[in-house]
Amino acid sequence: MGEEFRFADDLGPTKVIHVYEPSVGLRGTLVVDNVATGPSIGGLRMAPDVSTEECFRLARAMTMKNAAAGLPHGGGKSVLYGDPRCEPAQKERLVRAMACALGDVGDYIFGPDMGTDEVCMAWVKDEIGRSVGLPRELGGIPLDELGATGFGLAHAVDVAAPHCDFEVDGARAVIQGFGSVGLHAARFLGERGVRIVAVSDSRGAIAEPAGLDVDALVELKRDGRSVSDLPGATAIDPEALVDVECEVWVPAARPDVIHEGNVDRLRTKLIVSGANIPMTDAAERILHERGVISVPDFIANAGGVICAAMEYAGSTQTAAFESIAERIRANTAQVLDDVKRRGVLPREAAVDLAASRVRTAMTMRRWSVF
Ligand code: NAD
Repeated sequence: MGEEFRFADDLGPTKVIHVYEPSVGLRGTLVVDNVATGPSIGGLRMAPDVSTEECFRLARAMTMKNAAAGLPHGGGKSVLYGDPRCEPAQKERLVRAMACALGDVGDYIFGPDMGTDEVCMAWVKDEIGRSVGLPRELGGIPLDELGATGFGLAHAVDVAAPHCDFEVDGARAVIQGFGSVGLHAARFLGERGVRIVAVSDSRGAIAEPAGLDVDALVELKRDGRSVSDLPGATAIDPEALVDVECEVWVPAARPDVIHEGNVDRLRTKLIVSGANIPMTDAAERILHERGVISVPDFIANAGGVICAAMEYAGSTQTAAFESIAERIRANTAQVLDDVKRRGVLPREAAVDLAASRVRTAMTMRRWSVF
């Protein structure tokens, strides 16, 4: 096989397409990884420096996430090379040109990602009639504003709690990152009687053993301020968030925040991952050996993509949220039961669940047989 197939394996990618239109300065790449379960959904990332290989890895992550969520969609990802903060008229030209160049690739549905937003998705829809993450006026369900991912995380906590011997009502949670995911996780956990005992954002961290006032924190963030501006809160070193005793620890900020250097300091029974890859493999193994359960990112944080798929199917907001609850509860239960039965790591169980769904779907597709 040639150099261009160096990252191909038995699952994909099925298509790698580079598009180039010098008259508008368009340079872009699309990777459609696997479409056995249906047309792929994945974000359009606008960035100056993403490689084809990284685009493939992001597309594969979407294959696994969409399959794990049981969606009728495969995984794909696209990259538009450029500065997302360029002049707005130029950004619109580039996004529209990217959509037109890929308009006939019917097995890829554009979604928003780093550097693109709902307005970009409206331009794509206008050009080719195929995108998710749209403005409400075009039938979109504003998943970050509504907290689709945080809502799903709270359901994962419900299902995992009995596996970790604690009651959700009255449990303590620590949340790292207080943006679209963390803020709504706090809100939905709070509704279940969980005390949020420590939170952080990029500007600071605070703790309160009796439980923080979540409504006041939400107000602060809506005013563009930091959680550390909460009156009367005790400031702590953001690094000390891992030391706060709790039943649930929710990473909702950056990758690799739990690693071999700090994993032994965690005093929690359950980790439910809002952020993508918040733990190194080594840290995950150490936690597993200590009996701490972690619900992997692409199981727990699938609320956003489930919401997007439901939007694409023309569903209402209510139906989308019902689907998030149903799918995340079922998948969390399946993964944790598998962990108990086979003694594998939760991530291994989750990968097996997703890959077996993809492979079963592949047996029903002509191109996988001939
Ligand atoms: P966001 O930008 O809305 O919020 C990120 C939050 O993390 C902010 O409060 C920011 O201040 C904080 N933060 C940044 N660096 C920090 C640090 N070093 N320590 C503590 N806090 C820090 O982003 P988001 O949409 O909430 O996404 C958070 C994570 O979840 C990302 O990894 C994202 O890929 C992942 N994710 C998001 C969704 C979604 O629906 N938005 C879905 C799946 C996964």
